[in-house]
Amino acid sequence: MTQVQPVRGTQSLLGENADRLAAVVAAFDKVRRLYGFKRVEVPTIEHTAVFARTIGETTDVVSKEMYSFEDRGGESITLRPELTAGICRAYLSEGWQQFAPLKVAVAGSAFRYERPQKGRFREFHQLDAEIIGAGEPQADVELLAFADQLLKELGIEGAILQLNTLGDPVTRAAWRNALYEHFRAHAGTLSEDSQARLERNPLRILDSKAHQDWPIVDSAPGIDDFLTGEAADFFGKVTAGLDAAGVKWERAPRLVRGLDYYRHTAFEFITDRLGAQGTVLAGGRYDGLIEALGGPHTPAVGWAAGIERLAMMIGVPASETPTAMIVPLGERAEAAGQRLLAELRRAAIAVDMAYRGNMKKRLGRANDAGAAYALIIGDVELDSGELQLKDLKSGEQRSVAFDQIVEALRS
Ligand code: ATP
Ligand code: MG
Repeated sequence: MTQVQPVRGTQSLLGENADRLAAVVAAFDKVRRLYGFKRVEVPTIEHTAVFARTIGETTDVVSKEMYSFEDRGGESITLRPELTAGICRAYLSEGWQQFAPLKVAVAGSAFRYERPQKGRFREFHQLDAEIIGAGEPQADVELLAFADQLLKELGIEGAILQLNTLGDPVTRAAWRNALYEHFRAHAGTLSEDSQARLERNPLRILDSKAHQDWPIVDSAPGIDDFLTGEAADFFGKVTAGLDAAGVKWERAPRLVRGLDYYRHTAFEFITDRLGAQGTVLAGGRYDGLIEALGGPHTPAVGWAAGIERLAMMIGVPASETPTAMIVPLGERAEAAGQRLLAELRRAAIAVDMAYRGNMKKRLGRANDAGAAYALIIGDVELDSGELQLKDLKSGEQRSVAFDQIVEALRS
């Protein structure tokens, strides 16, 4: 029989690599509590419309990356490509509106049919933070300060916050027209994908991954000439808030984000340490999204971060190194070792004992595991009621009574 293979773009992780993902989530959990974000859980699957309506038909995510299937009842279901849409769906269907403004956070898996490469998978994981029901620039500032503190908590240096505004609907419409004229004039040299976006959503060309588009994108008009007084004022409050909070940022006048419903603030934290997959955290204000789901007008702002990309950038997390390994010699000692193992673990001391092996093998294993001590038990020790506590670093060895060992290991 041929051996089974993993699905392309999925990962199975052991030890340190799995610990890295867990360390990112633990840091996220710590910081989200400091900022008063409630934890939520939302389903992995939603009706396809939840994503199709919110993310936008012209985006890569909806047009080519979604894992959609018909279930046995004939309904079109999609594995979530991101977490925002499901949270907004729940905000409406679960009556969470009563808690507005609602600050929520979640970590979980996401699925996109992409070409797998470094930092890009078909099943990956995201951290996600949202503030729903708040139209104030202070919400944008709080969310960005949260992101900035998270990256610091993770010890990630050199991720730069690139910030832009997409303005209000009036601003955006005027900018869109200017972009349309600009890109239409260069239509012949644009990539196929971007030509297809020209009529439907020229803003999306700014986000193009095709190298041939980049010079045309670089010479495209920035948004500043089109900002209404109101939009400029909003952006000014966001940047002033960031400065007050000590969050460093850089202006990126051509930055747009995937969603069609983004308004005002748009941002990405970028690093040069992950090659082409340099965006580690990204988001913005999406005041039109909840209406697209059939809800009332609800201002909201949020971000998502790729856990795998963050995990590649953190230091090695602590692994499960035992404080001590028990080394029993003979059958009687083995039984005594079992008892001691249980006792020490119940006393919250990390100990281990190999399933088999002679003294030499077992001591070797204790060293390999990084244990600080070996607890050696033989017939002599059992008769005297004292075991040998061997310091594996110095090689020093001394006798300790069985009922004193918890204390000896704690000190
Ligand atoms: P990219 O430009 O890299 O494709 P994106 O704009 O599609 O990213 P978002 O939809 O904003 O990404 O998702 C938020 C974050 O999730 C990204 O910044 C990235 O860190 C991570 N991410 C997105 N797609 C993947 C993937 N296929 N594999 C791993 N991480 C991903
Ligand atoms: Mg993408």
